[in-house]
Amino acid sequence: IHPDQYCVFGNPIAHSKSPLIHAAFALQTGQAMVYDRRLAPLDGFALAARTFAAEGGKGANVTVPFKLDACALATELTPRAQAAGAVNTLRFDNETILGDNTDGAGLVADIVRNAGVSVAGKRILLLGAGGAARGVVLPLLEQGPQEMFIANRTVATAEALVAQFADALAHPGQLRAGGFAQPDGQFDIVINATSASLAGDLPPVPPGIFGRHTLALDMMYGAQPTVFMDFAAQHGAQVRDGLGMLVEQAAEAFYVWRGVRPQTQDLLAQLRSAL
Ligand code: NDP
Repeated sequence: IHPDQYCVFGNPIAHSKSPLIHAAFALQTGQAMVYDRRLAPLDGFALAARTFAAEGGKGANVTVPFKLDACALATELTPRAQAAGAVNTLRFDNETILGDNTDGAGLVADIVRNAGVSVAGKRILLLGAGGAARGVVLPLLEQGPQEMFIANRTVATAEALVAQFADALAHPGQLRAGGFAQPDGQFDIVINATSASLAGDLPPVPPGIFGRHTLALDMMYGAQPTVFMDFAAQHGAQVRDGLGMLVEQAAEAFYVWRGVRPQTQDLLAQLRSAL
């Protein structure tokens, strides 16, 4: 029997850790599958994905810059993919292309299970309003935070997110938006979903948002802490990078494809020591 085929599409894609993660999950759960990386041309995602499906591919992950293209390609969207307006997981079932988004569930799993911090009743500050931020708003709201503030460089983009999720709120005012300087008082959880860290930049947030009980999570990861993580740690926060989110979104995608939920703890520790 041939193992089922999966892959991750991106451009660039050489750096992706997804093949390593899914190979480890397949081994751990005894699933007969292979998973490789595929570089799609910037203007050729749909063709690449359709070709892969026609060759027998069962599913794919999708990363930068194709999450919107994947959303357009899907013939069915899960509610969380619809809310995100972006797709990071595709499942090919005959003629149906299911589009899902597991980034938000991955972030919540990392915060709640791995970091041991509950979101219910907390004050959350989300920095950024791009694709990554949009994907995590609904899964975070579903945890029942007391309040969530979305701060972005372009304030109008953050305001549009608040308008989009108005119907999902437990009470008016649960979700607000503004610029980076606007949030006041301490927050329980601060999530950096901007791409500022890529350029070594820091969103100009007031240091008073951090306290000893604050969890500050940067969605970026690498060998060194980001400027955001350093800044948050200097002001007393507990810091965390995006590696846990990466592994958890992969576990959630694996579940969408295979109906089996892999363990993530050992793999996360292994990946961290290999960074
Ligand atoms: P987008 O390009 O969609 O959005 C970028 C966001 O960052 C916007 O809000 C933008 O603000 C803001 N921004 C960019 N540069 C700066 C800057 N110098 N200062 C302040 N704000 C800035 O990117 P994504 O949302 O797709 O990705 C964001 C980050 O999340 C990336 O680093 C990505 O690698 C990471 N990520 C990690 C995942 C994981 O599993 N760990 C999963 C998904 C993403 P404006 O609107 O004003 O332009």
